[in-house]
Amino acid sequence: MFSEKNLFVLLNPKAGLTKADILEQKILDWGNTNGWNISIHQTSIGENFSPIVKKATSEGFQVFAAAGGDGTVSEVVTALREVNCPLLIIPTGSGNLFARNFYIPTDVQRCLNMLKQNSQVIPVDLMLVNGRYRMLNAGVGFNSRLMQFTTREEKRRFGFFAYLKNVGRSLRDILATDFYLTIDDDQKQIRGADVFIANLGFGLHSWIEENEFNPNDGMVSVFVTRPSNFSSLFQILKNAISGKKQESEVVCHFNVYNKITIQSKRRLPAQADGELIGETPLTIQVIPSALNLIVPLKSDLNLGLDSINKYFSEMFNHPD
Ligand SMILES: [Mg+2]
Repeated sequence: MFSEKNLFVLLNPKAGLTKADILEQKILDWGNTNGWNISIHQTSIGENFSPIVKKATSEGFQVFAAAGGDGTVSEVVTALREVNCPLLIIPTGSGNLFARNFYIPTDVQRCLNMLKQNSQVIPVDLMLVNGRYRMLNAGVGFNSRLMQFTTREEKRRFGFFAYLKNVGRSLRDILATDFYLTIDDDQKQIRGADVFIANLGFGLHSWIEENEFNPNDGMVSVFVTRPSNFSSLFQILKNAISGKKQESEVVCHFNVYNKITIQSKRRLPAQADGELIGETPLTIQVIPSALNLIVPLKSDLNLGLDSINKYFSEMFNHPD
């Protein structure tokens, strides 16, 4: 699949539970076994990855890997924008939404095996949310309160279901407010309780399901809603994931191809990919085909009940 077998790895030693030295050795061992020349750079907090990536390309590295969580991936993506090389995600963080969304294995060896077989490189759209690359979704209102109330520990233990536990609490005290949306040069004032922006879904393997999100459709979907109870919220989330339009409590729905800014009359917390990122205003820029990502071949995935069971058991038993 790759003619030059040179891999440069940016490894975040602080991510996840596996010791960095052990992880590093696993990666190097794989390289020795499979004839790949691998160079590993352990990252430090606040480090600028751009010069590191540029130097690596000048030394002949054309394939890069980010070993860490979503934060590490986001920073590596930023640096790779300038060199346009494919990225392998080696998920070692606690959330790993980027990886989960594309069925990227959490086992290091299986993940590295994608460099030699049963994989493809696909372009993936990303969102630049208040200056940082995000893959799945962002929003203010109900959805950001949900993220606010759901602790890291709950997410680690219960995965996606952790959010369901906090739905009632997040719906309480949510009042409709005035949102000011600027979509490209068009301004709209809309009264609602929640603004949800979906690029790829929730990290539940959405690209592969029947109503899949196209990972490179060049747009994000924006839903302004007034969820009033548990079941309406579900409907909204389901539609956001499947890309379906209008339901009774969806106030409006837009597709954004360039940029959207969201302001609110009351200051509201904002979230992106499940992480609280401060308060409104929120600016989201669509970056089409921002990333060339190495992902498993669809045909190689067993999408029957087995894989669903496996997915959930993995989520519960091995959250990292
Ligand atoms: Mg999209």
